[in-house]
Amino acid sequence: MSENIKFVGKNKDSKFLESIIEQKNEGYKKDFSSSFHPSTITECPRRLVYRTKEYTTGNKNEYLDKMDVTFRIMKWIEFFRKMKSIQVLSSDFIAADCHYNISGKIDAILKINGNNYVTKIYPINSLNYAKIGQNGAFKKHVIEIMIYMWITETTGGILLYENKDNNEYLIFNVDLYIPIINSVKKKCLNLIDCKIDNRLPNCPYKDKKSAECLICEFNKKCI
Ligand code: SF4
Repeated sequence: MSENIKFVGKNKDSKFLESIIEQKNEGYKKDFSSSFHPSTITECPRRLVYRTKEYTTGNKNEYLDKMDVTFRIMKWIEFFRKMKSIQVLSSDFIAADCHYNISGKIDAILKINGNNYVTKIYPINSLNYAKIGQNGAFKKHVIEIMIYMWITETTGGILLYENKDNNEYLIFNVDLYIPIINSVKKKCLNLIDCKIDNRLPNCPYKDKKSAECLICEFNKKCI
C-alpha cells in the first residue's frame, strides 16, 4: 500500500469531481416540492406541510442513495422486459392528481396473465427485509401503491422488495381498498386548506417524544 502512495493524490480534476458531486448532493437537499408525495402521505400532516415549504435532509449523500435505488429498479424492469410471460406496459412515469395536489413516480405497469398491475420496487436493507418477511408489506407502501392504482385506474398492485445486501426478494399483490383512498383524499384537501391559509395543521401528538417526532427533520423548528 505504502509503495503506491506516490501514485495516489488529489489533482485539479479529482478535486473538481469531488466538488461537483458535493454540489449535486447539496442541490438535491434544497429541492423544493410543492405537492404531496404518495410515499409519505401516512406521515404527520404538519410534517407534510413543512416538506412543501422547504425540503431538508440530514443525509449528505441522499442524491447518490437515490441513484442507487434508481439503478436497482431499472435492473428489475429490464429483467421483466426479457420475460416472455410478462409485458412491461410502461415504466418510470409520473402519476399526479392536481385536484388533490398529489404526485409521485410509478416504477412500472406490468401485464401478468392478462391483468394489469401498478408495480413498485423497493430496495431495502436486511433489517427491514426481515421485518417484512415476518409481518408483511409496510403499511405506508401499501397506501402509496393504492394511491397510484387510484390515479391510474388500475385495480391490481405489485410490491417487490429487494434485499440490497443479498438480492433476495419478496413479492406481494395489493387490492385497491376505496375507504383508504377516501381518507387520503380528505387528508390532502385539509393540507391544501392549510397551505392556502398559510397555517400549519394541528400537531397530532401530545409531545415531541412520539416515534415520528423523534425521527422528524423538522423536530427543532416545530412548535
Ligand atoms: S416534530 Fe412531530 S408534530 Fe412536528 S412536524 Fe415533525 S412529526 Fe409532526
